[in-house]
Amino acid sequence: MHEASLARELVSLIEEVAAQHSVTSVNRATVEIGELSTVVPEALEFAFEVARQDSVAAECALDFTFVPLVVHCSSCGYRGHAERGATGCPRCDSIPLEIQQGRDMRLVSIDVEDDEDA
Ligand SMILES: [Zn+2]
Repeated sequence: MHEASLARELVSLIEEVAAQHSVTSVNRATVEIGELSTVVPEALEFAFEVARQDSVAAECALDFTFVPLVVHCSSCGYRGHAERGATGCPRCDSIPLEIQQGRDMRLVSIDVEDDEDA
């Protein structure tokens, strides 16, 4: 289970972005979860609720976007989805493959409190 450290990382990322925009409260954050990252959204959400306490993300809800694994093969030029756990290129079986997306968890965007009383 690495969700606890990911959740802490997520909170610091949100705090960083919030600081850059002089924001004191974040309502919602969109997080990309790569197919290969093995992150369990429910576990991450649970860990996030603990990690976000006393931060700008204290009231922050999470939205998850799932990113399929996409690989690029330098031998045959294949670029596309590959099965998780596949050892070689889906087309020509060569190794190594370059992973182009779907490896990580990543903060995509945040929504902030702005002039709701206006
Ligand atoms: Zn190939």
